[in-house]
Amino acid sequence: MMMNIPLTLSAMVEHAEKYFSKKEIVSRTASGITRLTYGESGKRIRRLSSALTMLGMKQGDRIGTFAWNHHRHLEAYFGIPGIGGILHTINIRLSPNHISYIINHAKDKALLIDAELLPLIEKVKDELTTVEAFIIMTDEKTLPETTIENVYHYEQLIEQADDRFELLTNIDENAPAGMCYTSATTGNPKGVVYTHRAIVLHCMALGLADSAAISESDVAMPVVPMFHVNAWGLPFAALWFGTTQVLPGPMVTPTILAELIEQEGVTITGGVPTIWMALLKELDTGKYDTSSLRAVLCGGAAAPKGMIRAFESKHKIPFIHAYGMTETSPLVTFSRLKSYQSDLEEEDRLEVRSKQGYVVPGVDMKVMGPNGDVKWDGKEMGELLLRGNWVADEYYQDERTDEAFRDGWLHTGDVVTIDEEGSIKIVDRTKDLIKSGGEWISSVDIENALMTHNSVFEASVVAIPHDEWQERPIACVVLKDEMKGKVTKEELLAFLKPQFVKWWIPDDIVFMDEIPKTSVGKFLKRALREQLKKQMNTTT
Ligand code: AMP
Repeated sequence: MMMNIPLTLSAMVEHAEKYFSKKEIVSRTASGITRLTYGESGKRIRRLSSALTMLGMKQGDRIGTFAWNHHRHLEAYFGIPGIGGILHTINIRLSPNHISYIINHAKDKALLIDAELLPLIEKVKDELTTVEAFIIMTDEKTLPETTIENVYHYEQLIEQADDRFELLTNIDENAPAGMCYTSATTGNPKGVVYTHRAIVLHCMALGLADSAAISESDVAMPVVPMFHVNAWGLPFAALWFGTTQVLPGPMVTPTILAELIEQEGVTITGGVPTIWMALLKELDTGKYDTSSLRAVLCGGAAAPKGMIRAFESKHKIPFIHAYGMTETSPLVTFSRLKSYQSDLEEEDRLEVRSKQGYVVPGVDMKVMGPNGDVKWDGKEMGELLLRGNWVADEYYQDERTDEAFRDGWLHTGDVVTIDEEGSIKIVDRTKDLIKSGGEWISSVDIENALMTHNSVFEASVVAIPHDEWQERPIACVVLKDEMKGKVTKEELLAFLKPQFVKWWIPDDIVFMDEIPKTSVGKFLKRALREQLKKQMNTTT
């Protein structure tokens, strides 16, 4: 038998303090760049844990963060689990309704909020039923003006606290450490709870040579938001491994990213295709030295072949396509060539690497078609099913658990083919969601809203490919007979605007005589997308 020592986030902090106290965190905030060593960061993490305890927070309490990628958010990543609390990273791009829903559903007892994001919380403050303390993270000495009560200044709070506070290491490794909500096809987002054990094992997977190979010698810059699946676990792994990390802060632009890459010598970075598309344009100016980069990780949506080619051929930057989801912490697959594929022709290599890839050790997968497991022939399609030690097995207190978690597998809703190498390629999704710039839009919610308009007979919203955002929603509308010709698309768009956040509003409304349907009367979205594509090709 072997020792059984709980795998905890606090043990990671102790490790970083002991062995990497001189290594650096480079943090961009509203007022500029802050540099901290892991030694200093460890003390601030302990102070935060101590301060939270002084505020009455206890083991098991959920504490939300509403913040960009910066050093204070990193402190929350460890300081909250350091008292046995649960770090609830709130997606700042959700609608106000969804923001208040998830804070109330998680029963967050405190919120750590970026000063510049405070107006978004002010909008929903009257709906919040459980929050006792609002802690503002700011570089300013004073608090911003606010109508919210029970507001604390992060820096002042931790200044009074104990920098030798003992972080909890002796807890059950299966205790929750974090949570994150993901969009549902319709209705409220669904919560996923990450345990200490899952996060630690996931970090180990991030260190594997054939996954991201994060190591002490790297300079890692997570561009993927820390409110989106823990920035793919990169901040956790980087601290544990003593990796220098560059946290790019609020309102990043391609220029800021390119400058940080050059100035800080970033070796590995991660984000969604939309970000990399924009960065490519910036790099095309030829102004930057990006020779430090050894890997650009891309996930969250499919990486187009042309983009992989542009990074590698034009800019000599190695590009790695990966796949995962909120429910899987998120690492699932990496698209890497196997050693015996190295003599493939350039185009064939690209073909392989633009697939989503094969699973990392620790995750198990199967693809289910209508007649059971599909053939590994790269042709037969089926739904991707996953299981593993960093894969969720339920949604947090949510009856929608049964739809997705059955027979010991997570049913992803992603429709894939799998080839003889075990590499998957996503060809469709069953979830009726549109992914625009890495964030979800519910087509069903927009359809339902449109169908409440008195001129609309039926409406179906589908994704169309978009160069910048990958996918954008288009609404197909059939008007009631008596309203035909009497209502314009501008009127319908104006009707939607007050009901949704701006980026959810469809790019266009196409009037149709009929929407294609299945034999049971459901919208046949695949046919609709084809129809739209044809229509657009003939009009352009
Ligand atoms: P999220 O939970 O928001 O991270 O979204 C997870 C979903 O994003 C997956 O179920 C896929 O539908 C999609 N996704 C993630 N990575 C990729 C990828 N590399 N290619 C295509 N779709 C992806």
